[in-house]
Amino acid sequence: KKRVFSGIQPTGNIHLGNYLGAIRNWVETQDQYDNIFCIVDLHAITLPIDPKELHANVRKLAALYLACGLDLKSCKLFVQSQVHQHAELDWILNCFTPMGWLNRMTQFKTKAGSEMDTVGAGLYCYPVLMACDILLYQTHYVPVGDDQRQHVELTRDLAQRFNNIYNKSIFTLPEAQIRDAGARIMSLEDPTKKMSKSDPNPSAYITLLDDPKMIKKKIARATTDSERVVAFDPARPGITNLLSIYQILTGQSQQEIEADFEGKGYGDFKAALTDRLVETLSPIQQRYNEIINDMAALENLLKQGADDVRPIAERTVQKVKKAVGLG
Ligand code: ATP
Ligand code: MG
Repeated sequence: KKRVFSGIQPTGNIHLGNYLGAIRNWVETQDQYDNIFCIVDLHAITLPIDPKELHANVRKLAALYLACGLDLKSCKLFVQSQVHQHAELDWILNCFTPMGWLNRMTQFKTKAGSEMDTVGAGLYCYPVLMACDILLYQTHYVPVGDDQRQHVELTRDLAQRFNNIYNKSIFTLPEAQIRDAGARIMSLEDPTKKMSKSDPNPSAYITLLDDPKMIKKKIARATTDSERVVAFDPARPGITNLLSIYQILTGQSQQEIEADFEGKGYGDFKAALTDRLVETLSPIQQRYNEIINDMAALENLLKQGADDVRPIAERTVQKVKKAVGLG
């Protein structure tokens, strides 16, 4: 079976974008692949984060992975910082990464914003660590949202560069797996920006743990426009984003949805969307509550996951060190 690797940062509230762009797709194809899913906590410290919050977020994210339907029979699940090979390979690959390649990464520019000179160097080097995460496991496919396309491309380039220098096939060249639907869910507040955990405004996203009242409130407030026609239209990003979410949740075609809401207003559509969201998230929340209440079992399973993947990562590190002349 081909190897799949992906991960999410435990930086905040896991939202609909993370679910529709990533987790849901992992769950859907888990039987076809040999899967490794990571909670990438080393990435979570690239911007300031409270230690207690980070610690809790790691457990919450692990519980959510399982609640969303990842099955330990087909997936290995672990916390990045529990496998020190990530940090070890990171240093080595940093030394092989041209600064010019990192300068082209748009996420750094977005996240650093006006603080370019004061943010930690880790934020700048983040794509190299992400490359290590993927390359350590000789990954074939990386299922991610559209915003990560550039980082997976960089990973490929780095792997190729390293393989070329040492004239050996040390790294498998990975490929991004990005779906057409759900790959870029937009902010509810500003539909020209992607939905993000790090958005300071919680109204911008629906988290997987929002209760029905909260979902209703956020969808009701979601930015639309004054046209009042329920139709897909790239010129109207707000309603189009909501419609795309509805489309994924119902599996209906654009034509079917537009026909259903013909002559109806945004209010009717938003009520229907709210129902679908509650229907999708309620069972996830139920399972989440059961899992998070058995912390000992959760800790155990994460420890087991790290123990299972460590030898795979170590094999790659050994190959790399030998090639470079280290150790
Ligand atoms: P942060 O703001 O902390 O970067 P994030 O919401 O971007 O948080 P990540 O942990 O960076 O989340 O990404 C986890 C996964 O979710 C990645 O595969 C990413 O491509 C995907 N993803 C993130 N945001 C969206 C979105 N708005 N739509 C679809 N997929 C998304
Ligand atoms: Mg992100």
